[in-house]
Amino acid sequence: MATDQENNKQRMIKLLERPGNGSCVDCGAADPEWASYTLGVFVCQSCSGLHRNISQISKVKSVLLDPWSDAEVEFMASRGNNAAKAKYEQKVPVFYYRPTHTDCQLLREQWIRAKYERKEFVCVERQEPYSAGYREGFLWKRGRDNGQFLSRKCILSERDGALKYYNKHDAREPKALMKIHTLNASFQPGKIGQPHGLQVTYLKDNSTRNIFVYHKDGKEMVDWFNAIRAARFHYLQVAFPGAHHADLVPKLTRDYIKEGYMEKTGPKHTEGFKKRWFTMDDRRLMYFKDPLGYHWQFGITIVTPDRKFLFTCETEEEQQDWMAAFQSLVNRPMLPQEYAVEAHFKHKP
Ligand SMILES: [Zn+2]
Repeated sequence: MATDQENNKQRMIKLLERPGNGSCVDCGAADPEWASYTLGVFVCQSCSGLHRNISQISKVKSVLLDPWSDAEVEFMASRGNNAAKAKYEQKVPVFYYRPTHTDCQLLREQWIRAKYERKEFVCVERQEPYSAGYREGFLWKRGRDNGQFLSRKCILSERDGALKYYNKHDAREPKALMKIHTLNASFQPGKIGQPHGLQVTYLKDNSTRNIFVYHKDGKEMVDWFNAIRAARFHYLQVAFPGAHHADLVPKLTRDYIKEGYMEKTGPKHTEGFKKRWFTMDDRRLMYFKDPLGYHWQFGITIVTPDRKFLFTCETEEEQQDWMAAFQSLVNRPMLPQEYAVEAHFKHKP
């Protein structure tokens, strides 16, 4: 018996070497050590915890620590990550966000539920909530002044080219109109203090503004996120006809390269240092009094030969992190469009 156990464990370890099984089927993390013996997939420890939330569909065990029966090993050998992807991911829309191991739990959990529980990527009819080009509903939106969350009607319309929200349910005019071509959305649960918190950024009068929203239902929130991505994808397809999907997908939404507190002084360097929240968004460094500021005080470019910005960080480690983040951008060649954007920001008072 004991030798059978050892034998089966060795067979399971051998299965991990097969193509596709060397990374988590759901988030891509290297060297998964857990397996779902009902779905026949290998997952990382973090995703195994999310599979436990759908235990009616997926049952997980540790490859190394749990006992494996002959039948279970045979089943795992007959399936595997590549076969599961071919089945459960066959109709993932090109705009749909596929989370990685660095993404927040909400995105990873909803990806797993969408794949195995709702089977959204086996059956396209279930994708309507985010692919229809129109979405309407209520989201909790953080108030600008007192920080309280209030229920607000939101409408995303590809035809109008905008995401809008309304302060009163019967209001005719939206409180804010966010053009799809300037939209970005990024899950920021820690910063917003809500596990489903989404930061939506847009341009108004060439200045970057933010709203912070969430929905209590995780599926609803991720559907909003993917609806924004779908709308941006369709906008970009029109704006750049013939462009490859692979070139458009990275432009749908983006996470910030680096965020955190630093202290800064004014242009003359004679004023005292003030603590500010900095966000590096692609080539733009922005700062605000606090992380949940409504609009950034200034947008500035990082490469500025005519002015030296002086910042201080709280720790040497933070300083190294920021320098590395700057360096990674400086090392990347600029595209012609980016020069145009830089010229624009230089002229901003
Ligand atoms: Zn994983």
